[in-house]
Amino acid sequence: MSHQWRGLIEEYREFLDIPADTPAISLGEGGTPLVRSEWLSGLTGGDVWLKVEGANPTGSFKDRGMTAAISVAVHEGAKAVVCASTGNTSASMAAYAAKARITPIVLVPDGKIAAGKMAQAIMHGGKVIKVRGNFDDCLRLSRGLAEHYPVALVNSVNPVRLQGQKTGAFEIVDALGDAPDYQLMPIGNAGNMSAYWLGYQQYAELGRATRTPVLRAFQAAGAAPLVLGHPVANPETRATAIRIGNPASWKLAEAARDGSGGRFASVTDEQILDAQAALAREDGVFVEPASAAGVAGLLQELAAGDSYAGKKVVIVVTGNGLKDTVTALEHHGDIDDVVVDADIDAAAGAAGLA
Ligand SMILES: *Cc1c(COP(=O)(O)O)cnc(C)c1O
Repeated sequence: MSHQWRGLIEEYREFLDIPADTPAISLGEGGTPLVRSEWLSGLTGGDVWLKVEGANPTGSFKDRGMTAAISVAVHEGAKAVVCASTGNTSASMAAYAAKARITPIVLVPDGKIAAGKMAQAIMHGGKVIKVRGNFDDCLRLSRGLAEHYPVALVNSVNPVRLQGQKTGAFEIVDALGDAPDYQLMPIGNAGNMSAYWLGYQQYAELGRATRTPVLRAFQAAGAAPLVLGHPVANPETRATAIRIGNPASWKLAEAARDGSGGRFASVTDEQILDAQAALAREDGVFVEPASAAGVAGLLQELAAGDSYAGKKVVIVVTGNGLKDTVTALEHHGDIDDVVVDADIDAAAGAAGLA
């Protein structure tokens, strides 16, 4: 008997709104760990779980949407795909395009992409084009290219992406036995929150969950259009994956917020980077800066007197810390290089054992 996870299209095909005969182009995405946070459960008096999306094949949840988008694009005859990206979408698209043996074209804001993500796009054969502009400019160009040239757009404005991404909600319900009371997560272009809401609603309608969670999504203070209620012309944050001034899925995310009884809030870069460091140290989970926004949000709410006591809470941590080690270590402060001779007593002394 085989126990290998088959990738999310084969695991959840009956629940996905994609052509029934679409062959799956998969790297084994999904099936990511739901890890209990002893730290945050202790702090809240609740039951707090981390959905560790950095465990996906290219290190972020973007693989969920990409397996669906690339599978459908190839099924429809695409020979090339294009996306605008703050880094993770292009890393994922390039990998799935390589697997499908089609051409990935990547538009990124010049100078704002974490090195690990750029390396992924390049290593997977992406035609990487740096744009003098921000993510929102890149998305406009990608839409234009897809309109006028024979390339398929795989940004989350492609509704097939959300079909893949909603499986995160399925996995959480399947693991916990029901939907949590609350889900907290970062939000940038707003596709992921919208997708989770689709997934939770669908499982409730099917009777696989008795309820839907309250969704709370957190932006970086320098890139918080959803909180402010208007686009931000020059979004700025160290959390580059959520450095977006005009979210494409704005309306869908507002519907998810209102339908779930949730809210948007913002956290500062300092809070985000502190939460990233604390999560790594306290729980052993190293996420990229943007991915820590949900944790930073929880800590902010606790400080403001909100309570999660007795509640089941899921925090989606969206991407892997290895993607951007530079930002993490810059925030860490001085790192003492401890160098000793190759001697047991010296090592024991330096380690504080002796
Ligand atoms: C894309 C991304 C986000 C934001 O998701 P949206 O769907 O754009 O809201 C958050 N964290 C990471 C690591 C990402 O790659």
